[in-house]
Amino acid sequence: MSDCLFCKIMAGDIPSAKVYEDDKVYAFRDINPQAPVHVLIVPRKHMANILECDAETAAALTDAIRVIAHQEGVAESGFRVLSNCGRDGAQSVNHLHIHLLGGTQLPEKMA
Ligand code: 5GP
Ligand code: ZN
Repeated sequence: MSDCLFCKIMAGDIPSAKVYEDDKVYAFRDINPQAPVHVLIVPRKHMANILECDAETAAALTDAIRVIAHQEGVAESGFRVLSNCGRDGAQSVNHLHIHLLGGTQLPEKMA
């Protein structure tokens, strides 16, 4: 998708701080981090949100979460993953992405 921010990042047209990549997934640091660790995990294939996610992509995202959690040193202390979807979910970039947040005690309240 030529007008998609995350497709442009993965194409290298917009710089990003890479955390992890494989053939199906690219992960980079959020530009406006909300925790000491705030990584965006993005499927290379463009899909708008979690509703469009196929099983193969879901498995690739889960594998990436596990690797990144260890790499970022939060696997033992814990972390949060979430994906905002649509208007009420306050999704601002319409290319599926998983937020991985950690490195501090996160608030219990999520909404
Ligand atoms: P959403 O609100 O759609 O769940 O999350 C989009 C995320 O993308 C936000 O947390 C925002 O800070 C991040 N973001 C927006 N533009 C850029 C960018 O150009 N580079 C990076 N690294 N993150 C971005
Ligand atoms: Zn895209």
